[in-house]
Amino acid sequence: MENETMKFIHDFADLINAGFACLYIDSYEEDRVMQQINVAASNPDFVKVSRKVYTWAQTTGLVGPDKIVPNTQEAVKALDFIEKNSENGIFVLKDFHIYFGGDRGTRPDYGLIRKIRDIIPVMKANRKSIVFLSPKLVIPCELEKEISILDFDLPTEQEIEATLDNLMLGLSPDKIKLTQAEKKQLVAAALGLTLQEAENAFSRAIVKNKGLDTGAINVVHDEKNQTVKKTGVLEFVRSDLSIDDIGGLENMKKWLLRRNNTWSERAKHYDLPAPKGVLITGVPGCGKSLTAKAMSAIWHLPLLKLDMGKIFDGLVGSSEENMRKALDTAEAVAPCILWVDEIEKGFSGARGGGGDSGTTSRVFGTFLTWMQEKTKAVFVIATANDISALPPELLRKGRFDEIFFTDLPTKKEREKIFELHINKRIRNSDIIHDIKVDDALLSTLADMSKGYVGAEIEQIVISALYEAFYNQRGLMAEDLVKAIKATVPLSATQKEQILALRSWAQERAVLATSPEDRETVMYDDGTSGDDTDFRERQGGRILDFDL
Ligand code: ADP
Repeated sequence: MENETMKFIHDFADLINAGFACLYIDSYEEDRVMQQINVAASNPDFVKVSRKVYTWAQTTGLVGPDKIVPNTQEAVKALDFIEKNSENGIFVLKDFHIYFGGDRGTRPDYGLIRKIRDIIPVMKANRKSIVFLSPKLVIPCELEKEISILDFDLPTEQEIEATLDNLMLGLSPDKIKLTQAEKKQLVAAALGLTLQEAENAFSRAIVKNKGLDTGAINVVHDEKNQTVKKTGVLEFVRSDLSIDDIGGLENMKKWLLRRNNTWSERAKHYDLPAPKGVLITGVPGCGKSLTAKAMSAIWHLPLLKLDMGKIFDGLVGSSEENMRKALDTAEAVAPCILWVDEIEKGFSGARGGGGDSGTTSRVFGTFLTWMQEKTKAVFVIATANDISALPPELLRKGRFDEIFFTDLPTKKEREKIFELHINKRIRNSDIIHDIKVDDALLSTLADMSKGYVGAEIEQIVISALYEAFYNQRGLMAEDLVKAIKATVPLSATQKEQILALRSWAQERAVLATSPEDRETVMYDDGTSGDDTDFRERQGGRILDFDL
C-alpha cells in the first residue's frame, strides 16, 4: 500500500494504541474505511494488542468477526453490549450523526448521548474504542472533548488506477483504446471522486462507448458534475475556448500561461508554493469571465463556478455551511479552477458586519482563511466589477497572487477582438462573404470603436451579420461600420465610474493589457505617457479618455 493510505492506518493505530475511546471518521466510503481499519486492527505492526472489529448499523445491529450479536439493532442496546463486552474491541458505529441531531429536522437523542458519556470511562479502562463512521461530521457539544476526529482522504491516484486496472482485466484487449498517457489522464480526471463513484463512471463509460477510450474522461467529468451540483451553490462550466479566443489582455494571458502545471508532481520538485489565484477586476464586458473559461480549457482543469448569490439566499443550508461545502467540494475536485464570479456581491457587506448579524463577515472570514491556508490545487479566479464594494482584507498581499485590471481595450486590442470575432463567424461558413479582413479594415474599425468593450464589439459583429442575412448576401465592411454607428458604448454613459475604476486600479492592480498594446494617455499633471507606468505614477491620475 502506498504512503497516503498507510498514513491513515498509522494515525488510526496510534490513537487506538494511545487508548482513545471515541474516534469520528467523516466519510461516505464505508468499505474503504472498513478495509483499512481491519488492516490496522489485526496487524501487530500497527496495533500493540490485536483488536476484534465489530460494525453496527441500524439495519443489521452489531456484527462481529464471527458472529451477529442478536437484539442490538437499537442503538442503546448496542451500547449496552459494548459496555459489557470484555474483548479488546473496536466498535464501528455507522450513521450516528442522525442521533446527534445532524439530519435536518431531527433532534439530538440526549439519552443516547448521555449513555455514550457514561460508558467512556469503562471503555478507556478496558482497551475498547468506538469509531463513529458517518458521511457527515456532527458532534454534540456534550461529547466534543471526548471525540477525536480522524481525516480519511478520498482515494489516491494509485487506488483509482488499481480499480481501473481491475475493470480493464475484464475487457478484451480490442476494447481498450487508451494509451498509457491517456490512461493516466483518465485516472487524474477521477481524482476527487469516491472509489465507488470512480468505478461507476468507468463502468458507464465502458457500456456507453463499447469499450474504454478517451471518451471516458467526459463520463468522469459528468460524474463529478453530479457531486458538484449536489452542493447547490457550485456549477460546472464547460468550455472549449482557446487562448486565441481572448483578444488582447496579453500581459494577463502571459502571466496565467506561466502558471500552467504548477500544481503537477513535477512542480513539487521546484518547491513552488501552490498558486492561490488571481483577482480580475475591470470594466464590464472586457473579458474577465472569458478569461476564466478559457483558462479552464487551456489548463485542462475543470471550472467550478461559485454562485455568491446562492451562498446567501437561504434556499439551501446556512450561508456558512454553504461556503464550507463549496470549498470542500472544490478541494475534493482539485486540481481545478474555482471561479468566484462577481465576488463583490457576496462580500460587500463584510466590512462592518452589515445588517445580517455578522453572517457576511463570518462567511467572508471562512473564505479568507481558506485562501490563506489552502494547500490543495484549487486555483481561484475571482472576478469583480465593482471593486469599491470589496473589503480591503481581500486585496492584501498573500491572498491573491496577482490583481489584474481589464481596462477598455486599446486600439490594438480592438483590432484583435474584431479580427477574432469576424473570423470566427465567417471562417467555416458556406456563404461567400464580401469582406477582406486585413490591417486596413481592422484599423478603421478600431478607430471608429474607441471606448467600446469586447462584448460590444462582439455584438457589433453579430448585428452586421444580421444585416447581411437580411439582405441575403455575404458580410460586407459597410455592415460593420453601420453597426458601430448604431451602437452607443456603455463607457459613454459611465465615464465617471470607469475613471474611478482606473484610479483605484492604478495603485493596486496590474494592467491586463501588454505594454506593446497600450496607448498614449493624458495625466492630470499635464503630462502624457502610456499605460506602462500605470502603477508607478501614483501622482498623476489618468485624466480622461476620448470617445
Ligand atoms: P466580463 O469582463 O464582464 O466578465 P465577459 O468576459 O463576460 O466580460 O465578456 C462577454 C463577451 O464579450 C465574451 O464572451 C466575448 O465573446 C466578448 N469579449 C469580451 N472581451 C473580449 C476580448 N478581450 N476578446 C474577445 N472577446 C471578448
